[in-house]
Amino acid sequence: MNRSTARHDAIAAVISWNAEDHRLAHDAERAEDLFGRDVFSERVMRQRLPKEVFRAVQRTMRRGEPLDPSIADTVANAMKDWALENGATHYSHWFQPLTGTTAEKHDAFIAPDGQGGAIVEFSGEQLVQGEPDASSFPSGGVRATFEARGYTAWDATSPVFLLRGANTVTLCIPTAFVSWKGDSLDYKTPLLRSIDALSHQALRILRIFGAAGDVVRVTPTVGPEQEYFLIDRNFFFARPDLLTCDRSLFGAKPAKDQQLEDHYFGAIPARILAFMAEAERELYALGVPVRTRHNEVSPGQFEIAPIFEHCNVAADHQMVLMEALTRIAPRYGLHCIMHEKPFAGVNGSGKHNNWSMSTDTGVNLLDPRDDTHTNMQFLVFLCAVIRAVDRHADLLRASVAGAGNDHRLGANEAPPAIVSIYLGEMLTDIVNQLEQGSSTGTKKGGRMDLGARSLPQIPRHSGDRNRTSPFAFTGNKFEFRAVGASQSIAWPNTVLNTIVAESLDELATELEEAVGQDPTPAKLQGAVRAALKRIVKEHRRVLFDGDGYTEEWRKEAEARGLPHARETVEALAALKTKKAADLFKRYSVLTRTELEARAAIFLERYIKQVTIEANVMISMARRQILPAALRHQRELGEAVAACDAAGVESPAARNELEVFVQLVERLQRTIEALGTRVDRHGSDLRRHAEQVRDEVRPAMADLREVVDELERRVADDLWPLPTYREMLFVK
Ligand code: ADP
Ligand code: MG
Repeated sequence: MNRSTARHDAIAAVISWNAEDHRLAHDAERAEDLFGRDVFSERVMRQRLPKEVFRAVQRTMRRGEPLDPSIADTVANAMKDWALENGATHYSHWFQPLTGTTAEKHDAFIAPDGQGGAIVEFSGEQLVQGEPDASSFPSGGVRATFEARGYTAWDATSPVFLLRGANTVTLCIPTAFVSWKGDSLDYKTPLLRSIDALSHQALRILRIFGAAGDVVRVTPTVGPEQEYFLIDRNFFFARPDLLTCDRSLFGAKPAKDQQLEDHYFGAIPARILAFMAEAERELYALGVPVRTRHNEVSPGQFEIAPIFEHCNVAADHQMVLMEALTRIAPRYGLHCIMHEKPFAGVNGSGKHNNWSMSTDTGVNLLDPRDDTHTNMQFLVFLCAVIRAVDRHADLLRASVAGAGNDHRLGANEAPPAIVSIYLGEMLTDIVNQLEQGSSTGTKKGGRMDLGARSLPQIPRHSGDRNRTSPFAFTGNKFEFRAVGASQSIAWPNTVLNTIVAESLDELATELEEAVGQDPTPAKLQGAVRAALKRIVKEHRRVLFDGDGYTEEWRKEAEARGLPHARETVEALAALKTKKAADLFKRYSVLTRTELEARAAIFLERYIKQVTIEANVMISMARRQILPAALRHQRELGEAVAACDAAGVESPAARNELEVFVQLVERLQRTIEALGTRVDRHGSDLRRHAEQVRDEVRPAMADLREVVDELERRVADDLWPLPTYREMLFVK
């Protein structure tokens, strides 16, 4: 009998993979010529639009000014011509519903002319507004299905691009997605509103410092680093859990995983590198400025990072990037896994969200080296962030909550679920001086600031690094590391922008009142010192430079009164507070209804995800594991019987059989136990989520334990699933 399995065939296929077969046809094209080729960029617009029209669009793109509707037809026409010249046949309003993915519905540019022929058409109206049937997208009750209409509205601040597929080129128009009444049904709308709020408040601060000058707008900048796994596609299809949940629900730990730390920054395997190169080229064409690639900590894990961009564009590009990796991997026989914890026991995948604020004149407001006018101004922005993060740590935590991230946050290789800020030795020292109200100079021998003598000068390089902090200052930006790998960055950034806007608002009000109509430097200095001193005093508890993975920190954080939501259900409670509702309402980011809808949708998603996982587990355990175990048991039984028949003592075989039979009994019991728990329902959403957390998840863990033990015992040629060793190391 040939007992070679699909697993063994997959391994053979991987071994025969040859980089030469995959050389790109367009290899010769230079990356700089490729960059932005598929984007309806400012450069293209400048060439194709009348001057006044171009200027009007540019004002919208750069300054977020409302789009003049009278120019829409002209823009649409130029866009259409450009798209058709590039082979496009369809256009699509591309949006980000609350499913967490992107949505697109394609419409052809051509329409019948009524005389048996067809004409090409694309009007300003079609560009500016679309009307997808929205009834199947989550609305959390905002939009009852009887009024299923929602509409999409062009976001002119994010560039239009061409999506190329086999036989298709589609013009993609980034849009916001709202209900007929105007409630946001997506991630983009509140993000745009939060950017406006932040800009408005930051400008007030700049004006106080007399630094507003030509600045019209302040935008958050974001550079998200994306971690992901790649496994051979054959393994992927042989694992129902990966196929359905993007996560392995079973799998015994291999003898070797990441303990030798030989994968991180190691030589990139040939096939992976070939894939990366093609993905990068497609992303270049789409104007996504990807820059960095490397192996990550776990075997089979990699990272790709772009250069930072304006928050809204970065968020759109991040979705494009995830989509591109997923789409291109199969061309190399690979499957790209974006899940936060696809493999237990090895590193999970996150998305480091590098965040700062920049003026439209190019000044990074969190860069002490940049032309931030005076160090005083830098410290104002820095302290505003500190207060925001401390006051709304619960919201930040909630913004990254999800079934996938539960396996990651607080586990030992990921940022802890307690939100704290790492400043580094030097800034901590400066902040301490602020609190004491005296400044004795900086730790590293810098000198006193000229502009504001009472505040210390911040030297150029603070090279400190801390890998365990969820929110670290890294020289000229903050890095929020708790974002999950599969998550859209739009929501965490919406929260971040809003909470910082609030903090800046309070500071601006306080300073405006203190300095009055004639702000002398002395007055301003005194007011800033007083304000920052109070902020540091009140919020220093959120500052922590130590090892965030330790038990001592957990205790210490508790003593400091920092919130610590260990998992999703607890974390999402932050969205139900009055504090959250007031915040989002005050800055017109989310209405109460919109916030409530999100709280409901996130809980619902959690319940659905875990329930699907539980059902996949049950099905795999019954239809793959149990049959394999019974076959193995029969073989053991036959071995014992053969010994008996031959009159030979076989204590080892007999013992193995006994132990194994017990294990199979346990398997059946745990399958049944999980089955009963999955079928139970809580009376309302929150109860149901709690029941999933408290009953279903532990039962899943029990079942996994038994199955993983079986994997260690069942004959290799009987085991139906690709193993961790195979999935992580065969590439
Ligand atoms: P690492 O954190 O791995 O040392 P870098 O510090 O070079 O790497 O940057 C990581 C990411 O942070 C990159 O995507 C980079 O573009 C982004 N970044 C750098 N400066 C800023 C900024 N001012 N605002 C937002 N993101 C930034
Ligand atoms: Mg980084």
